[in-house]
Amino acid sequence: MTKEKKRNFVFIVFGPPGSGKSTQAKILANKFSLVEFDTGQVIEKVIFDPQKARDPLIKKQKERFSQGKLCQPSWVAKIVSQEIKKIHQKGKGIVFSGSPRTIYEAKRIIPLLEKLYGQENIFVFLLKVPEKISIFRNTHRRVCSLCGATLIYNQETKKLTRCPCCGGELKERILDNKKTIKERLKKYREETKPVLKYLLSKKIKIVPINGEPMPEEVSQEIIAKIK
Ligand SMILES: [Zn+2]
Repeated sequence: MTKEKKRNFVFIVFGPPGSGKSTQAKILANKFSLVEFDTGQVIEKVIFDPQKARDPLIKKQKERFSQGKLCQPSWVAKIVSQEIKKIHQKGKGIVFSGSPRTIYEAKRIIPLLEKLYGQENIFVFLLKVPEKISIFRNTHRRVCSLCGATLIYNQETKKLTRCPCCGGELKERILDNKKTIKERLKKYREETKPVLKYLLSKKIKIVPINGEPMPEEVSQEIIAKIK
């Protein structure tokens, strides 16, 4: 064993809906004790923080948010940067799933991550799943009628008749019809392309991963690629 300084990683997991990116993010977070970073959750936390309720800028964002409008990208980038700095100060690494979603966000986040963690510690994992499988998985999702947990479709979960968390009854999630999922796949391709192009130009490592096998196999492939 070398007495190497502990590396602090930044993992970015990309993949179409149904590729299991949040599952992989969770596995990586546990294995490397990383903070799971969800931009949407970070924004919500700030917007609904009672201590910040009087802040005029946050009030404005809250208004937009509750009207279903997107928060201002510059404001989002600021909040996200602050959160990243906080995590880094605690000496922790980060795993992102599905973000940065826009080129605007990427251009503000990536240089900061490079500065704090070093380019050699940043890895992008691109989960590859054929469109057919993505559609199938998304149209076969089930949700627990008691606790609301969502079950993705795979060899293990297809056998379950009850929720593995609480034993509740599982219901098909009708929301994900074929048309909706096709639109989400299109949106994913349109959003991801320019972000990946930017990451390539920054010489960030982009590692394609086969997202078809079982989650444990996928995570083994990911871990084997971390050098
Ligand atoms: Zn449940």
